[in-house]
Amino acid sequence: MGIKGKIAWNFMTPKVSRVLFQASYRELMNLLMSTSESVEMINFKMKDIGFRVGETLLMDYADRIRDHAGAFHEFANTLQLAYKVNSGQFFSSISISEDKQTIKFTDDDCPVCAGVHITDMAGLQYCALVSGVFDAVMKLRGFQAESFQESCRALGDDVCTWTLTLR
Ligand SMILES: [Zn+2]
Repeated sequence: MGIKGKIAWNFMTPKVSRVLFQASYRELMNLLMSTSESVEMINFKMKDIGFRVGETLLMDYADRIRDHAGAFHEFANTLQLAYKVNSGQFFSSISISEDKQTIKFTDDDCPVCAGVHITDMAGLQYCALVSGVFDAVMKLRGFQAESFQESCRALGDDVCTWTLTLR
């Protein structure tokens, strides 16, 4: 999935240290873990935080993103670009279901989960922040869609996978 030079240039954004981001995210997660009653609640809260983050990102990029997607499945490209801009890397793979109702994003080197190994919290969606960002993009673009994190490297899966399904 290529990006034309001109578009890529338009999406250039100031960067912060990856270590700073990962350490901050880890401490945010630690705080959620110590103040939540269940894994489900941690997932819910992190996804909600991601939604708010997504709203901010969209406000920043709204004008530039608007032209790049019309139909639901075309958001695969927009989200790939947004992921690259914000994480510094592309999703390893993206697949769109035959009925074009579900988009599956995979990262085999998720920057949120890098270096994190959690063995005692089954069901935790460590990088659910990404799901929340997806939800914000969909809602603010007028789509009835919902994201779900299917697998997570921090929990021992081979890859991190997020699905986005049109309702
Ligand atoms: Zn991850």
